Amino acid sequence: MVDLKGQYEHIKERVNRSVIEVIESTAFINGPEVHQFQKELEDYLGVKHVIPCANGTDALQVAMMGVGLKRGDEVITADFTFAATVEVIALLGLTPVLVDVDPMDFNIDVAAIERAITPKTKAIVPVHLFGLSAKMDEIMDLANKHDLYVIEDNAQGIGANYTSRNGSKKKTGSIGHVASTSFFPSKNLGCYGDGGAIFTNDDDLAHTIRGIVNHGMYERYHHDVVGVNSRLDSLQATILRAKLPMLDLYNIQRQDAARKYTEAFTGIEDIDTPYGNCSGESFICDTCDCHVFHQYTLKITNGKRDALVKHLQEKEIPCGVYYPIPLHSQKAYKDERYNEDDFEVTNQLVKEVISLPMHTELDDEQIDYITKTVIDFVTN
Ligand SMILES: *Cc1c(COP(=O)(O)O)cnc(C)c1O
Repeated sequence: MVDLKGQYEHIKERVNRSVIEVIESTAFINGPEVHQFQKELEDYLGVKHVIPCANGTDALQVAMMGVGLKRGDEVITADFTFAATVEVIALLGLTPVLVDVDPMDFNIDVAAIERAITPKTKAIVPVHLFGLSAKMDEIMDLANKHDLYVIEDNAQGIGANYTSRNGSKKKTGSIGHVASTSFFPSKNLGCYGDGGAIFTNDDDLAHTIRGIVNHGMYERYHHDVVGVNSRLDSLQATILRAKLPMLDLYNIQRQDAARKYTEAFTGIEDIDTPYGNCSGESFICDTCDCHVFHQYTLKITNGKRDALVKHLQEKEIPCGVYYPIPLHSQKAYKDERYNEDDFEVTNQLVKEVISLPMHTELDDEQIDYITKTVIDFVTN
């Protein structure tokens, strides 16, 4: 699904040199590389504060702790996402409220959020799924109206832009009250191990969160709140510093691959191509940077999805089903509160979606082979 080796070959010298420098410096934890990376990411995203941490799941958890969510508070998130999002809500003793998604762009359905709001609701967690921003204008409007926090799960969306109705363009993760991301190796900005970060423009919240990731300490050995231990280490930070200047190029390479996939699949019966941009069309324009294609996900609408997965495996073409089970049906998150009729879209998507190889090293020959194999199988 990804070609981390091929990507590494292009930045090998820089990465190897800086990794050795970190080892020689022995500043493994909280060293200058972490601080530099933090500054560089703040500049790139246009946010006031980046707080690095150990992984994207911690980032979400710490963001929720930071805004002061309490046991019993309800947190609304999408039924169709990676489990980390709902996991941390449950872990903190908050009440997850899963809602359906939009069949067109796979992102959280704003009308469903509105229906789910109760007096106990305290936060909304939109996920920029597969690299395309959730509908942030509408979500921020709802949040303002009901006095809710918006915590963006930006693990799949780093580098993507969101264009507001007033025309202003912002990076995903810089719009809500606080956001989280992951530097897991296969993410659009991945390190060579685990890593994550929290973003916010709120000075007080940033201060609170810096303490939480460091055992609740604001002054050495004074523990004011219950915190966690969640750090990005200097080796990962130095690798991320080598890769951050490449992120826009990496995302363009993904968009190029997506454009070629979509060209090949357009007009083919029973294959639905994904949205290419946030205006809700399939084309990916030359300057479009609102979809960074963490995944390129098709819908196979003639019931052949599972057979296609098998067929591609036989042809040694990697593919993935993200996600095969709606979160509300997972053993850990099942709840009597949920009604199947409220999850019509996720229940259908889990049967139809298939994600194709998507990374920075895809060449025309590979894309040609993949698209021909898919089309041959689905249409015969
Ligand atoms: C990857 C991912 C996470 C978790 O990130 P980790 O670094 O693996 O903990 C959270 N949310 C979403 C949507 C993800 O894709």
